[in-house]
Amino acid sequence: MSAATGIVHPPASIAVIGSGQLGRMFIQAAQQMGYQAGVLSATNETPAAQVANWTILGPPDHLPALRALADRAEAVTVEFENVSAPALRWLARRRIVRPGWRTLWISQNRHREKAFLTRHGVPHAPWRSVRTEDELNLAVRELGLPLILKTSATGYDGKGQVLVENAAAAAGAWRSLGETACVAEAWVEFAAELSVVVVRGRDGRSVAYPPSLNHHERHILSSTTTPAPVGPIVAQEARDAAFAIAQALDAVGVICVEFFLTSEGRLLVNEIAPRPHNSGHLTIEAACSSQFDQQVRAVCGLPLGDCKLGSPAAMVNLLGDLWADGEPLWERAMRADPGVKLHLYGKRTPKAGRKMGHMTVLDPDPQTALARALAARRALVRRTS
Ligand code: AMP
Repeated sequence: MSAATGIVHPPASIAVIGSGQLGRMFIQAAQQMGYQAGVLSATNETPAAQVANWTILGPPDHLPALRALADRAEAVTVEFENVSAPALRWLARRRIVRPGWRTLWISQNRHREKAFLTRHGVPHAPWRSVRTEDELNLAVRELGLPLILKTSATGYDGKGQVLVENAAAAAGAWRSLGETACVAEAWVEFAAELSVVVVRGRDGRSVAYPPSLNHHERHILSSTTTPAPVGPIVAQEARDAAFAIAQALDAVGVICVEFFLTSEGRLLVNEIAPRPHNSGHLTIEAACSSQFDQQVRAVCGLPLGDCKLGSPAAMVNLLGDLWADGEPLWERAMRADPGVKLHLYGKRTPKAGRKMGHMTVLDPDPQTALARALAARRALVRRTS
């Protein structure tokens, strides 16, 4: 049924490597379509393992764990990009693995990702490779200040990056990131941050959701509104760039492309995530096929679903900070607005900055959707004074 045709039908067993909320929502979508959905997880109590039909315990690069995964799953995908290329290559010789290791290899390292964008002529902020303090000083002279220094190999939600505001701060920034391979990026005075979730199928055809508007706080996504309040030209440019990136990556799967929109209307690609993305969570309620449905379809080699929105929508993240004074007031938020959809990921320990869940609101007017979602989040907060 699988390897020969590249297509996997329900009720076959499929799996995800990585067991956070993205893996959880992939599994839920797969189960809804009749698949048996498993996970390769470090521990049993993770968001994905809680809902999976089966779990293999182990790190993603551990051969016995990969062997067990290949025994159980006909097709495998990932929920994060930092799975090693050798592990994915090993697995791909035995089972369908989508997206492939080359796609992940490019996006798991900022240097490779920037070089990829440059090579393919995709607009992005000016950048320099930095492997020594001297190279950082050179980057400061060439790119100007302020700039952002980001570690090449790891880092998400603002971790592994530091703002360099003046030349005297460069040495401290270099040390604070551990004197490791970095990229220096020119500071972009952006008017807005947008993202496009694109899905590329086994036949090389792609579909995309409309661009969304993202708002970050402390480098962590706080809210997403879709469709973004941009004109048809910017919307088409963003989608075209996302299609071109998916094609150049030769990816099969879901890819999110994040953009800066400058005040002059220029789109610069900030980041590529070769998997469903936090800014696409609202597609669960807002679109005909959610980004997780599409991930299932892509990994199983099925025709892709419709990205059309049934309604504009907004999503707000629920970070662990909301638990600072005790359990958030769920009932108050739900009573105030019955249109609020709550998603909690089953994480036991709230921590500041940790993504514990999200809420989505549909409304004919995207700005009203956002206002309602923000009001619902405010209603969760206990006031202790
Ligand atoms: P990243 O982890 O690279 O996506 O960065 C997280 C957030 O930091 C982005 O969503 C932006 O809000 C901000 N940021 C990153 N790079 C830049 C830049 N070159 N100029 C301005 N803001 C940036």
